[in-house]
Amino acid sequence: MNGQENQTIIIPTMYRTKTCGELRLANAGERVTLAGWVQSIHNLGALTFVDLRDRYGVTQLAFNEDAPEDLRQKAARLGREYVVQATGRVIERHSKNPNIPTGEIEILVDRLDILNESLVPPFTIEEHTDGGDDLRMKYRYLDLRRACVRRNLELRHRLAIEVRRYLDGQDFLEIETPVLVNSTPEGARDFVVPSRMNKGQFYALPQSPQTLKQLLMVAGMDRYFQIVKCFRDEDLRADRQPEFTQIDCEMSFVGQEDVLRTFEGMMRHLFQAVKGIDLPELPRMTWADAMKYYGSDKPDTRFGMRFVELKNHQPDNASRQTVDSLFPAGFQVFDQAAYIGAIRCEGQASCTRKQLDQLTDFVKRPQVGARGLVYARVQQDGTVRSSVDKFYGPDTLAQLRDRMQARPGDLILILSGDDAMRTRRQLCELRLEMGTRMGLRDKGRYSCLWVIDFPMYEWSDEEQRLMAMHHPFTSPKPEDIPLLDTDPASVRANAYDMVINGVEVGGGSIRIHEAGLQQKIFEVLGFTPQQARRKFGFLMDAFKYGAPPHGGLAFGLDRLVSLFAGLDSIRDCIAFPKNNSGRDVMLDAPGALEPSQLDELAISVRLPQ
Ligand code: ASP
Repeated sequence: MNGQENQTIIIPTMYRTKTCGELRLANAGERVTLAGWVQSIHNLGALTFVDLRDRYGVTQLAFNEDAPEDLRQKAARLGREYVVQATGRVIERHSKNPNIPTGEIEILVDRLDILNESLVPPFTIEEHTDGGDDLRMKYRYLDLRRACVRRNLELRHRLAIEVRRYLDGQDFLEIETPVLVNSTPEGARDFVVPSRMNKGQFYALPQSPQTLKQLLMVAGMDRYFQIVKCFRDEDLRADRQPEFTQIDCEMSFVGQEDVLRTFEGMMRHLFQAVKGIDLPELPRMTWADAMKYYGSDKPDTRFGMRFVELKNHQPDNASRQTVDSLFPAGFQVFDQAAYIGAIRCEGQASCTRKQLDQLTDFVKRPQVGARGLVYARVQQDGTVRSSVDKFYGPDTLAQLRDRMQARPGDLILILSGDDAMRTRRQLCELRLEMGTRMGLRDKGRYSCLWVIDFPMYEWSDEEQRLMAMHHPFTSPKPEDIPLLDTDPASVRANAYDMVINGVEVGGGSIRIHEAGLQQKIFEVLGFTPQQARRKFGFLMDAFKYGAPPHGGLAFGLDRLVSLFAGLDSIRDCIAFPKNNSGRDVMLDAPGALEPSQLDELAISVRLPQ
């Protein structure tokens, strides 16, 4: 609970009768004892005011000129972040502070005990601190004293509680699965733990409890969930941590529709209970449409600006249609392109040349990778002025305007390339950038949808083979099973993601529950029967003992909390996060082991030269 708004009355303890967040004018005259940290001290000659903070809020302590000398001396000794216990009478304040819930009262202190002293903190413990990221992480326990950081953890707690409440109401059982397991195939690198008792052998930390939850379905648990730590040894980005938390779920005797309805219900419950928002029914978009219209499998649908294909000679598997070029031959870049796509930016024709140059630089950055940007402005009289005027006549440009449904004042941005998917991804970046510049990505608005019908496989350039897009236990759509032999790349899966504001918050699939089909999928993925046996023999054996049809999904709790809190990074909603190099700078982990420990584990460390 946010102690500032919602009053929880906690049971008095030996150190306090009230918290620093609960006293109001109605309490005036009461004698109370508070305990907390000194937030700030104001000396006004004979008067001293101290702001005392605990998890629940801040209350002003007052020491007046009539206070006994020893009390005044104690008050004079106080420093920031000292831990104190103060007893006194609640009185009405002369100058009230309307910004805090306790702002109408103060405590006229008659007894003060310093419970602990504090060094001067290395940064100010205020909403707007002077501490940089590194410093705050090193002293995270001080950073967490800041109300804005603490509130994220309170929100996280609330979300977790509401998840449990909803799933319990749907008869899900919370079951723990082991952390010391074998490699699980979610496609990232494993963190491994050496076994002392089995020298030369290693456990892997779970990338997710995927196979274990499927075994729980074979075991007849019917509905399982777990709020569980997962571990993936990947290069880190703002929304990734090496250890993260999933709301992991699995159900038996369900099809895709059942899973979608159950978890749409959970998301509705969370939005209602935690944010007081009534989520409309979640729209569904096929993966093929998401790629075609947004260039992403996690489209940010807070705003439109859908792609219009002006040429596509490389159609995706789902649509199989080619689109002829709107542009007659003449401009080599467009002539040679396999794909030309455009977005319409409403009212942006007034963009300056400089802004357009910046956008061109933006799309040419290596992270985006486009070769250039073509633009066209629709003038007030409806005519079009573009950066490719010298190649095309007014008729072509008018056709462009009409195809884009552009009105006077609109700006059209066009990208082209020799690979449709790659160019769409670039156009996606441009769309998001324009959405941000145009203020269309308001963090307080939520647009939530399901993306469904993912392909089973994606081609990996690195591995030079088809890889499971979700994971190898995902069931193909029954009607696409015959394609496994002829055209595996076009097989669609019963897999789905939930996307909120362009963030994939969860994803899952209906699983394969027949050993034969599972074997076949392993084959398509390039496993020999021996390899499949070695890695997943336990699962395939289990499937021979009556595995029920089942499916599920997992939500990323960290991402969900950061979305609910409107944060840019998941780090801010994790109590003790790791930095970009995977280090915990507070604990200084990871660290080297003592030689004796290494001996015990029969490990010799050879560092690269
Ligand atoms: N195990 C999957 C993941 O971690 C989720 C699922 O398919 O249930 O993404």
